[in-house]
Amino acid sequence: MQFCFAGTLQVNFSFIEMSSCELQKRWQSDNYKNYLKVIEALNYLRDGLGPFSEHVMLDFQSEILIKNNVEPRECTTCSSKHIKKGKLQLECSNNCSKLLKDILNEHKSGKNPMAVYWKNSQIHKWSVDAWEIAKLYMGRGQSEDNNGPRTSDSAAILQLLSNCKRYQIFIPCGEVDKVRYKT
Ligand SMILES: [Zn+2]
Repeated sequence: MQFCFAGTLQVNFSFIEMSSCELQKRWQSDNYKNYLKVIEALNYLRDGLGPFSEHVMLDFQSEILIKNNVEPRECTTCSSKHIKKGKLQLECSNNCSKLLKDILNEHKSGKNPMAVYWKNSQIHKWSVDAWEIAKLYMGRGQSEDNNGPRTSDSAAILQLLSNCKRYQIFIPCGEVDKVRYKT
């Protein structure tokens, strides 16, 4: 079976026809139903924590912009390759190095900047996109496509809540890690 949309996009569903019997069996399996429930629960977790995590990060961004007298505009100079051992190797007119210092201070691994995944973030957007700051508190491998809570997975949001000290006043010590290690 093949569908054609507006003459431009063709989608081939033959793989579904070929395995429909297998799919039917799968849908009737209790294990598979449980698997789907877990996926749904993780999506609920992400959707529940997402707006809160974003709100806290927007406040943090706003605070460090004011503190360091930084105008919200993309930096034309800096990128993650310019960070060595937790320090920017150049100075820019956007004061990215001052933002970096405050971001690092709020990281659980702040004293070990090598443990921060700087490549997760488009650092030139720190002053205009709070989520690019948030991604520094997440695990390795966050892509440019992760541009907000809706495009993050629940594990990444839990890492953010666990690794960024800004959330500690809202969440009792250790509670996030208990959830993290159960998911
Ligand atoms: Zn910069």
